Amino acid sequence: MRVGLDFGGTRVKAGLVDDDGRVVRRASAPTRPEHGRDHVLGHVRRLVARVDPDGLAEALGIGFAGMVDAVAGRVVHTTDTMPELFDFPLAAYASEVTGLPAAIDNDGNAHALAEARFGVGRGARLFVMLVLGTGVGGGIVWDGRVWLGAGSMASHLGHIKVRRGGRRCACGARGCVEAYAAAYAIEHAPGAGAKAVFAAARAGDATAERSVADAADAIGAACANLTNVLNPDVLAIGGGLTRGWKQLRGGIEAAYARDALAAARASSPIRRARLGADAGVIGAAMLTTQRGERGGHARSGGAER
Ligand SMILES: [Zn+2]
Repeated sequence: MRVGLDFGGTRVKAGLVDDDGRVVRRASAPTRPEHGRDHVLGHVRRLVARVDPDGLAEALGIGFAGMVDAVAGRVVHTTDTMPELFDFPLAAYASEVTGLPAAIDNDGNAHALAEARFGVGRGARLFVMLVLGTGVGGGIVWDGRVWLGAGSMASHLGHIKVRRGGRRCACGARGCVEAYAAAYAIEHAPGAGAKAVFAAARAGDATAERSVADAADAIGAACANLTNVLNPDVLAIGGGLTRGWKQLRGGIEAAYARDALAAARASSPIRRARLGADAGVIGAAMLTTQRGERGGHARSGGAER
């Protein structure tokens, strides 16, 4: 048994996860900047106690919405909702307050690890996943291990450029897939929630249709870039926005066919992720299974004793 914590911009979700990737107990708590850092950090101990009252867990993993140095176990940069966690050694902190070995990584990497182990990427040697949520993230899993990159900053897949000089992204650059396919981007035009935009598009509203089509085209183009570079066994798309999969799929496939090399595309199918909202917690729980295999996480938990 392991505990996974999914630190998002508005909530921390926790789960006790068994070795087969099933969430056997859940809890969550809101994160608001006005609560202050100590309160938000207190969720680590409180949520672990709630999902694992009998002390069954052998380790703890955290998937964090922001830039994370998984090797050092530190949050490097967060969204505005948790600014006080800039440059914070969250893995060591979690280890200290729970007494469990702890690891941390970016939430996109956690999602990808979960789908690679237990979901649509099962059996794939090279698995790539895009996660469509508040922002766009993702992860690359090779031979069961999250690909971290030289400075632990790999797989910020939302910032793949799909339109030169295109829309301004939250990262400051232009033309990123996130600027078209994140929830904030889809909501941009009609000014309602993403769900309402999908509904309006179904009803034939031209602005909403355009917004959904732009998102699908950007996602397909980003997938094509990934396939042209990596030729993965499976390229998965997950996250909350895939609830609109029926409306996105055609546009994604069309852009993918247009932009990916035919020979590469033939062996890199696009699939919808399977684990749904649980993926973040499941993947976070599995992060500690990566210790040693890539050297980094052994240093991340202060309590590796
Ligand atoms: Zn960007």
